[in-house]
Order: sequence, then C-alpha cells, then structure tokens
Amino acid sequence: MKITLSIIKADIGAIGGHMAPSARLLETVRRHVLETSGDLLLDSYLSYTGDDIALLLTHNRGTGDKAVHQLAWDALMAGTEVARAQGLYGAGQDLVQEAFSANVRGMGPAVAEMEIDERPNEPFLFFAADKTDPGAYNLPLYLAFADPMNTPGLILSQKLAQGFRFVIMDVTHTACDRVIELVAPEELYDIAALLRDPQRYVVESVWSRTSGEQAAVVSTARLRDIAGKHTGKDDPVLLIRTQMHFPSTGELLAPFHVGHFVAGGLRGHTICPSCHAR
Ligand SMILES: [Mg+2]
Repeated sequence: MKITLSIIKADIGAIGGHMAPSARLLETVRRHVLETSGDLLLDSYLSYTGDDIALLLTHNRGTGDKAVHQLAWDALMAGTEVARAQGLYGAGQDLVQEAFSANVRGMGPAVAEMEIDERPNEPFLFFAADKTDPGAYNLPLYLAFADPMNTPGLILSQKLAQGFRFVIMDVTHTACDRVIELVAPEELYDIAALLRDPQRYVVESVWSRTSGEQAAVVSTARLRDIAGKHTGKDDPVLLIRTQMHFPSTGELLAPFHVGHFVAGGLRGHTICPSCHAR
C-alpha cells in the first residue's frame, strides 16, 4: 500500500533565545493536529530540536498534498499565536508568508516527504538538526550509502550491491532547482567532489539502484532565498528508510560518530558562497 511520510518543520518561537519551544506552544500544535485532522492522517508525531518543531505526519494522500500542508500550516499558526502571547523569542519566525496557498513549500517551513510502498514492517529514521543548513547531512549520507568501510552491507548484501543513486541539488541556483544525478559506486569521486562543498551542493534524495525505491529525502529549501532576506537558519530534516534494500539502522547511524564541521556555529546566519551576502 502506498503511504506518504511528511515532515513539516519550523521555528515559530522559543524560550531563552533560540533554545526550545515552550510546553504550551508544543501542546497547542499537537492538539490542533489531533483535533482538526479528522480522517486526513494515519498518524502524527510532534518533536522539537533546538528551537525547531517538527510535525511527522503519515497519510495516503501523496507528497505536496494541499489538505495535509494546510493542516500543518494552521497548526503552526496556532502555535505562533501562543508564542506571541507568551512573548517567546522569534515568534512566527519561519512563517514568512501571510496566507496559505497550495502547500507550505516556499512559505518558510522545511519540508521532507516521501511516498513509498510500505513494507510489512517499515523501519525509518528521522533526523533533525538545528542551527546549520541542509549540507550538514552530506557526509553522513555519503558514508552510509557509498562507503563500504562504513557500510559493510554494500559488499555483503545482494540487495545493496548495485549501489545507490544520489540526487544532488545546487542550492545557489535560486531561479530554478538545478539537480545533478550521480550513481555510486561508479561516480564516487564526482559525488565526493560535490558533497565536499556542502554550502552549495546538498543531497536532496537517495535511491536504491537494486529496487528503484527511494531511500532518503532531505529538506533542501533555503529560508534566506525564500524570504528574499535573512530570517533564520535553514535547519534541515532528513528521512531515511532502513534495512532490506537500504543500509541497516546501525550503518546509517555509524557516520554520526564523526563530529564533522558543518555550517552554523550558534549564530543566525551564514555567508552565501556565491554573492557573499549574509
Ligand atoms: Mg532553528
């Protein structure tokens, strides 16, 4: 059966500076989803990482669905009202548009979605990072899906032996989504050459070459480009399916033993590599 996993994430206000949402804000967003979703969703889960709250929604309506996105937007707006009333820092910060149109893409929230054929059991991992940008996942994804020293399944399992296809986005191209597709292991050096420039090239998704199934998706929108000016960080979320035709959970977590450098550093801006604007 087809199922869609949707993560919609935004910073709509925090206590103690850019630290964490308040309990009442979280409860408001959670209750809004539960009380207004009707039969729209299969399930929902609300979490936060730093000042970002993330809705993980499962449903059968496909990616970019207007009703699902409207539900998330309205929940975030309800949370923003609480943030304003409580005097939270950066209330409504990531909601850069006034009114909802078709979906939340381009309106501020980070979005990562996959429509998949659900396996009998469907293990997946959800990562969220605060105060960095989507390129923060370049190295972990490269190691997990392309490096057999990290992922022995690449040389031990027939289900992984054909390797993976990387869809990489040039996020400095704001006029259009410039996307580059490369396959591992044949184009390993080309993949590495791009991913070593994480402020320009960002893994958008990863696909199994054995089964053709989608393995991973990263939120790639840059908030700065959406707003036309800096409003916040492009704190990314990542969804990865595990086991069977994908690396095991341990193989996907192992790269995070490496404390690699990422953009960020606890401030609200980075420098654009092409125009040097902050
Ligand atoms: Mg944040």
